[in-house]
Amino acid sequence: MNKPKILIIYTGGTIGMIENQETGALEPFNFDHLIDNVPKVKMLDYDIQNIQFASPIDSSDMNPTHWAEIAHHVEANYEAFDGFVVLHGTDTMAYTASALSFMLENLHKPVIITGSQLPIGEVRTDGEENLITALQIAAAVNADGSPTVQEVAILFENYLWRGNRSTKMSADNFNAFKSNNYPSLAKIGLGIHFNPDALMKHEAMRPLQVRCNMDTSVMFLDLYPGITESTLRHQLNTPGVKGIVMMTFGAGNSPTEPWFINAVKEAVDGGKVILNVTQCVNGGVHAKRYVGSDRLASVGVISGYDITSEAAITKLMYLFGLGLSPEEVGEYLRKPLAGEMTIG
Ligand code: ASP
Repeated sequence: MNKPKILIIYTGGTIGMIENQETGALEPFNFDHLIDNVPKVKMLDYDIQNIQFASPIDSSDMNPTHWAEIAHHVEANYEAFDGFVVLHGTDTMAYTASALSFMLENLHKPVIITGSQLPIGEVRTDGEENLITALQIAAAVNADGSPTVQEVAILFENYLWRGNRSTKMSADNFNAFKSNNYPSLAKIGLGIHFNPDALMKHEAMRPLQVRCNMDTSVMFLDLYPGITESTLRHQLNTPGVKGIVMMTFGAGNSPTEPWFINAVKEAVDGGKVILNVTQCVNGGVHAKRYVGSDRLASVGVISGYDITSEAAITKLMYLFGLGLSPEEVGEYLRKPLAGEMTIG
């Protein structure tokens, strides 16, 4: 049996940080230090190699250029490795996971993203366990030798989640991530228990296609009771913005007053793509349930069903990045591209 070959891509985040002696603040450090702190990794009988960002970053500084760098590393090493582990800060991990799920089309190998709440050098760190479990998941194979996980996923503490279904739920807990609208891909306890029903199944074996161009002419528009017409219009008319994720109430509702619907209609008629995503952490948009959501649908706002806000904004960047027209973007928003939403 050949040893599993795993590539670790280290981008930064708390997992690799150490305390600055002068300021007491946590700062990214380099990868050699990180592995030195996890001698147990050497107990895994794997062939592990690593690549790191030239300057590891706090994930609050992540942007589409970094996503492209990660995607290019996966592409360049795709044939040579069985799986990939991306070490990443938790703050924007769900955005990176969502973006990569779109950029890495026809992914048939595991891309497991993990990090930690406490630096790996600290006594009570969660980083050691997360790194080791992520490596084991990246190396896991089915009875026929195919990779168990064939998608971008987030491993954190006790669960493996689909990347584009995940949200950071806690700034404190070790179980920091959750998919509020999708089951876990695996539960981690004494063993790693995969959930075959939830894991991505590909209909055909197609070659990996990496598309890294992301168009950032997008924004969130968060509704709240008391929003005024001038604030709404100002946001809808933000210069250079082509796509808007509108964060709505409940099952996709908005104020039903004519000034609201008219402003939204004008924006859609003017070529803006607006995706309706609920502010609720659980459940999704049901365009026909209430007048508010029905009105939005009737003026051309697209239902995001149960998509997360992280997947919604990165999907918009990805689709506009392909150079598609607003109509074409709308068409692709209505269907799942990488298991990011359930229609219904
Ligand atoms: N600020 C850190 C980051 O996202 C937090 C973490 O890694 O948990 O990079």
